[in-house]
Amino acid sequence: MIDLNSPEIRFALDVVRQASLLVRQVQTEMVTAALTKNDRSPVTVADFAAQAFVASRLAWAFPNDALVGEEDASALRSPEGHATLEMVSRFVSGFTPGAAPEQVGAWIDRGASDPLESRLSRYWTLDPIDGTKGFLRGDQYAVALALVENGRVQIGILGCPNLDPDGAPNFQGGGSLAVAVRGQGAWACELLQPGEFISLQVSGQSDPVQARLLRSFESGHTNVGQIDEFIQALGIQAEAVRMDSQAKYAVLAAGRGELLLRLLSADKPDYKEKIWDQAAGSLIVEEAGGRISDLYGRALDFTAGRTLARNRGILASNGILHAPALRALQQISAQ
Ligand code: AMP
Ligand code: MG
Repeated sequence: MIDLNSPEIRFALDVVRQASLLVRQVQTEMVTAALTKNDRSPVTVADFAAQAFVASRLAWAFPNDALVGEEDASALRSPEGHATLEMVSRFVSGFTPGAAPEQVGAWIDRGASDPLESRLSRYWTLDPIDGTKGFLRGDQYAVALALVENGRVQIGILGCPNLDPDGAPNFQGGGSLAVAVRGQGAWACELLQPGEFISLQVSGQSDPVQARLLRSFESGHTNVGQIDEFIQALGIQAEAVRMDSQAKYAVLAAGRGELLLRLLSADKPDYKEKIWDQAAGSLIVEEAGGRISDLYGRALDFTAGRTLARNRGILASNGILHAPALRALQQISAQ
């Protein structure tokens, strides 16, 4: 079990739980109206609000710790951004009383750290809403936070409002938190009642033919042609499961999938993964007994800046199927 006396673990659990409730509140109040107008404002507001909230709590709990977050507040300081900043401040105020717009902008900008430039031996990394397209579509999304020390993820936590603790998608349920601490396993609990943890364990499936493959919902975030080739090379029978965000890692960790691929899309062959898109999920997979690497089998390097600049793509697995999957990637020249 994880050490609930650790200040970092308690902080991470509490802040991700509350940030998940915050973004869900934005969704309830704004998304339905926006969908008819093809308007991205809910995701903008929720992204900024969640980052401001987490940054404010981090500043209070661990004032010396750096934050590497996806968002920065520059767009909110322009005249056109003013109304958005007001709205962001209103949502943040519900969770952090007295959040004035200027203060909210400053909190968001605490996330601008660069681990390489500042040679950070310890930092937190946050994706306030991972899977923004899923958030707008009403599919999966996650609030992702991780603590990285000396280049190794020590705590990884995902707030998944549309996933049950056992990794089953559930759009009417209360959502879940998946959490991993290095050396202490991977666990999940209800988002609303974070008391009872269940252990997350990857699947024991060793037959590639029976493997369930998880991929991005968005075709532009991967390479669909190569996924088909990979499926053929391994003889996988089931169709790939399309899902947004690091919720896929929670699903893999819960044993509801065996393989997860992030291939490079044809129009962005040099795409570098963002650290906030991988840090939390990677530890959850590893602590559940799985394996994660880039497409060449290299360990993920969280010291290379705000991206995984020294890696290319991602392969995550239940461990047993990692070697066959790497061979298949070589065979189809996806590496
Ligand atoms: P997913 O929902 O698994 O597709 O992952 C969502 C994440 O993909 C977002 O948070 C983005 O940071 C990232 N992303 C954006 N564009 C690309 C791209 N061209 N290739 C891979 N990932 C991307
Ligand atoms: Mg993301």
